[in-house]
Amino acid sequence: MISQIIDEKTIERLRAFINGVQRIVITCHKSPDGDALGSSLALCHVLRRLGKEAVVVTPDMAPKALEFIPGVRELIVYTKHEMRARRVLSDAQLLFCLDFNSMKRIDRLAELVEPLKVNRVLIDHHLDPDNVFDIVISHPDASSTCELVFRVLMQMGLLRLMDRHAASCLYVGLMTDTGGFAYSCDNPEFYEILASILRRRIDRIGLYNKAMNTFSADSLRLQGYAINEKMQLFPEQGAALITLSKEELERFNYNRGDTETLVNKPLAIPEVYWSVFLREDADKIKVSCRSQGDFSVSDICARYFNGGGHMNAAGGELTCTLDEAVTMFHQILTDLFPDHSDNQEQSIQDQDQ
Ligand code: 5GP
Ligand code: MN
Repeated sequence: MISQIIDEKTIERLRAFINGVQRIVITCHKSPDGDALGSSLALCHVLRRLGKEAVVVTPDMAPKALEFIPGVRELIVYTKHEMRARRVLSDAQLLFCLDFNSMKRIDRLAELVEPLKVNRVLIDHHLDPDNVFDIVISHPDASSTCELVFRVLMQMGLLRLMDRHAASCLYVGLMTDTGGFAYSCDNPEFYEILASILRRRIDRIGLYNKAMNTFSADSLRLQGYAINEKMQLFPEQGAALITLSKEELERFNYNRGDTETLVNKPLAIPEVYWSVFLREDADKIKVSCRSQGDFSVSDICARYFNGGGHMNAAGGELTCTLDEAVTMFHQILTDLFPDHSDNQEQSIQDQDQ
């Protein structure tokens, strides 16, 4: 049995909101990932089957690697289709905000969304949501926003409208936000939800291969280079650091999404329980952190990198040089491990000796 974790009053209010409107906009965080796109597009499919005019507006483009998710081609991308985004938002009667907890996470789209006089429904699994939503369905214990969309549909009695397309979208988020069913999926109900999705006859293996194991040759070479030449280990602090400069990214014809899972790789080393990746983008340093066990990288990202996230997967941004970001990483080592006088890298070779 899948329990009803969302209280009945919230479900009743949501039902009234949806019944009372025709035009619905769904949005998700910038640089959308599998969970953001999967949850938004699944909800969009179901609302359309319910007879609503639903659209998904994203702050920026979906990565090429996620173009296989059903419905991605119909996205209204604010940075690309600004006029259409403005039009559907000004016509919207109800707004869903999926997979983010703060308006900062939708970038410049916030300028359009914030003044809207419509009800806003948050469905999300990040800690501490902003106080700007009319309905808050926030469960940081959930594996993913896709899990929560499934639960919302279940409690509203709408699972009958979850067709193969919607089920495929949800499957992508359940899979990518758990690192391929590796973490954040201890709840046995997670597998009951998967079972219900599998009954829609999704192409499970195809989706796995496309979401988890498809890279361009350039991306694969970039990842090989990053691990071979750029990974620094700090075994006493259980840490790993990878940095990639603009010049290095250009050398490998970098495309958005090419380094998506790179930060996870150092966690394969038994001594490493937290991993940091610093990428020099055009206008900022993008920070990605992953950890194992109860070492919280979300605290680190909130404190040092203007970001946040989940205990084991978090990120942030810095407006500084790559060198300054590396200095910040060393500052973290010093702050968290003050007893280690030698907070410098120990090379892989040193370790092997
Ligand atoms: P990634 O490292 O894949 O970009 O992000 C991992 C997780 O960290 C995301 O699911 C999101 O929850 C969080 N995250 C990433 N970047 C940011 C950021 O700039 N700000 C905040 N608050 N969270 C972020
Ligand atoms: Mn998510």
